[in-house]
Amino acid sequence: MSLFTPSAAWVTDEHRMFADMAARVYAQDLAPHISTWVKQGQVDRGFWEIAGAQGLMGGAVPEAYGGAGGGVGFDAITVYEQAAVGDCGWGYSIQSIVTHYLLAYGSDEQKQRWLPDLVAGRRVAAIAMTEPGCGSDLQAVSTTATKDGNQYRINGAKTFITNGQSADLIVVVAKTDPSAGARGVSLILVETEDAAGFRRGRNLEKLGMKANDTSELFFDDVKVPLTNLLGQDEGQGFYQLMKQLPWERLVIAIAALGAIDFALSETIAYVQGRRAFGKRVMDFQNTRFKLAEMKTKAEVLRAFVNDCIARAEAGTLDAATASMAKYWGSETQNEVMHECLQLFGGYGFMMEYPIARLYTDARVQMIYGGTNEIMKELIARSLDV
Ligand SMILES: Cc1cc2nc3c(=O)[nH]c(=O)nc-3n(C[C@H](O)[C@H](O)[C@H](O)COP(=O)(O)OP(=O)(O)OC[C@H]3O[C@@H](n4cnc5c(N)ncnc54)[C@H](O)[C@@H]3O)c2cc1C
Repeated sequence: MSLFTPSAAWVTDEHRMFADMAARVYAQDLAPHISTWVKQGQVDRGFWEIAGAQGLMGGAVPEAYGGAGGGVGFDAITVYEQAAVGDCGWGYSIQSIVTHYLLAYGSDEQKQRWLPDLVAGRRVAAIAMTEPGCGSDLQAVSTTATKDGNQYRINGAKTFITNGQSADLIVVVAKTDPSAGARGVSLILVETEDAAGFRRGRNLEKLGMKANDTSELFFDDVKVPLTNLLGQDEGQGFYQLMKQLPWERLVIAIAALGAIDFALSETIAYVQGRRAFGKRVMDFQNTRFKLAEMKTKAEVLRAFVNDCIARAEAGTLDAATASMAKYWGSETQNEVMHECLQLFGGYGFMMEYPIARLYTDARVQMIYGGTNEIMKELIARSLDV
């Protein structure tokens, strides 16, 4: 399968070649290791370097910062092709999001300092918004960044942070002015190496997405230079988050599509081979109708996702549309995993079949990146003008 619809105008020959390359790299260097990484709760650091060497992470980064100088369509391909081999453990989506923050708001010095390492896989990034006491309501973050001479002192605790065990560059959402509500929020980059007072909690045990490390992070008077503030002025963090969240939400929809394509191809192969009552499970009308329904849903999602990528390339992807893609994509993914698993019968419940893992992996897509209830709230807000 392919991310692209036949009529997608944003797709060029370069995109197609990039997709072929990504599919090859994932088939050779990622897919064979998924079950090992699931067991160890983390992707090998070596894969980040392979992905960097192959150019998988720099498609949308200007050449001056180590990338290939293309648009976000290349990032979309990296995300889709990963999901299309059945993986969600490698935390590239977050790396991509942090890269986009730096591209949008970083100073030239910050871009020079961090982007080449992110593109090459020498550094792994995380974004730390959620806290034990708040997730959806980001204005309520209680982590603080207090100015002290030419430094910020960061204090607080974060949780559920993707790439939390492996990240060495973390965008921390903190209050630089706790009395100013949303206007007091800033984004500050923390380099974890030798950062006194920084501590990682445990790698959290999850229902799914087990090959990705997800962690608590603790900041106890962690000192970073004032130049690690993202953007020119303090208090821009909430605005920066709102501007960038559409890409994060579209990434979730793209990953949903890749996972659906993978699940459908696995399921079709299974029902073609499995026999009951003297015929292939594929030959039961129920199976054919279920597969037909799921394929139709996949194509509807593909069309919407391609339209959203085209808008993201043009810089016109708005919050409500990205929310629709995230909400619709993740719900469709969960419906499809449910139906596909059923077609495997008892084998669908066995972890040796990827469909069981895909079923558990899908659930969180409706929760992170803003819950689907929050997505509906954002969509409704755009209607109530
Ligand atoms: C595997 C995983 C990875 C994650 N990765 C990251 C990461 O890398 N970085 C990061 O910062 N965070 C991350 N998160 C956190 C994630 O974004 C939050 O869990 C999510 O935003 C929800 O916040 P919460 O868990 O505090 O739920 P709450 O905000 O407490 O919500 C609880 C329930 O209330 C509902 N609710 C809340 N507000 C409203 C409202 N206004 N209207 C209607 N219903 C509402 C929610 O939809 C939900 O059903 C991750 C989470 C998981 C599970």
